[in-house]
Amino acid sequence: MSRLPLLFGLLTPIGLAAQAPPAAPPVRIFIKAGHLIDGRSDQAQTNVGILIEGQRIKAVGPVAQIQGQAGDARVIDLSQMTVLPGLIDAHTHLLLQGDPTSEQYDQQLLYQSVAYRAILAARNARLSLEHGFTALRDMETEGAMFADVDVKLAVNRGEVPGPRIFASTRAMAPTGMYPVLSQNWELELPHGVQPVDGVDGARLAVREQVSHGADWIKFYSDRRYYFTPDSTLHSWVNFTDDEAKAIVDEAHRLGRRVAAHAIGADGIAAALRAGVNSIEHGDGMTDSLLDAMVRLGAYWVPTVTVSHYVADPRGGIWGPMVDHQRAAFQRALRKGVKIVMGTDAGGFPWTEINQAKEFEYYVQYGMTPMQAIKSGTSLAAELLGQSDNFGSIAPGLFADIVGVAGDPIKDITELQRVRFVMKDGTVYLTP
Ligand SMILES: [Zn+2]
Repeated sequence: MSRLPLLFGLLTPIGLAAQAPPAAPPVRIFIKAGHLIDGRSDQAQTNVGILIEGQRIKAVGPVAQIQGQAGDARVIDLSQMTVLPGLIDAHTHLLLQGDPTSEQYDQQLLYQSVAYRAILAARNARLSLEHGFTALRDMETEGAMFADVDVKLAVNRGEVPGPRIFASTRAMAPTGMYPVLSQNWELELPHGVQPVDGVDGARLAVREQVSHGADWIKFYSDRRYYFTPDSTLHSWVNFTDDEAKAIVDEAHRLGRRVAAHAIGADGIAAALRAGVNSIEHGDGMTDSLLDAMVRLGAYWVPTVTVSHYVADPRGGIWGPMVDHQRAAFQRALRKGVKIVMGTDAGGFPWTEINQAKEFEYYVQYGMTPMQAIKSGTSLAAELLGQSDNFGSIAPGLFADIVGVAGDPIKDITELQRVRFVMKDGTVYLTP
């Protein structure tokens, strides 16, 4: 009752009543990098200065030159380290804790509430950020509805630490083609995806998912994988061509890109006919499919880490699928297919394997270490349509920056031992 008049009494005479308080100047940070891999160049540079103002990178150059512009900026000395752009994993499931067998998958959907799963997802987001991942394309919640969007909101509002999240919400498969499935027709069981049927149903599902916050649309192009004697990996295709094309067309109309789970050659071919932006897993790539990938400019996100993780527990053809994928990966490199780093984290437990293991597999499979780094930085940002925001270290981009003690060009496993993490200009891990 008495404070409001007093406030007016104080402020009005000096004319400040209508003005907001002056904004604090943006925090300035000066990073001294011993070595810099900027995500775009083919060569590392030595003794580089990075000036950060607020959330973004202001200047990058020789350390002495940038020091001249830094003034009284806070100094972070990484002169004994190699500095890189924040890492990007283009295929994760924050809401899943490993599903090497269908029993483990069903267990989570049947016996864990979405609320419980979202708490674990927040834990996973923090772990991922601490491992150097500053952006994730999360490839569906596996029955946890739109909870990925909630985790993203909590991260963006600073309630919990985590990477930038590009959410795809529920994903899509036709009725009866995705777990949880049971012979007992009396039970109404949770769906691991949104069941989608028909062209109109496809467009409606895209609209629903976008209205609930989907940044990406994902659909399951195939299931039931099998080899024929000519060593081709085949599959049963889920959607009719008309349905798949409707999903892609509606998503593109609404400004969203589309990812297709496609393991067998038939599923990959169907997804490419529909015009998807990325093929997920892609174990059954053939020479003609790889040529089509190049022609269409589609990205391949191979998720090698999960392939190795599930091969033993699943048995059967899951082992030979790993070998098939490895050979296809090497042919894809020669053909110039755009391979983007994605792990399928959540398909394996977030607490057991560091996502950066994927880089090690790519080098084992024939990438140079620099190629592998680009697949999980600048090229991943390109897939996300975010090249102007992150994926490299350059003026104007968000300050998403990591540091490792050794040289990842000599030993790619250094990326599994990230010692410094900054996202948006905020430090989350220091050496
Ligand atoms: Zn996945």
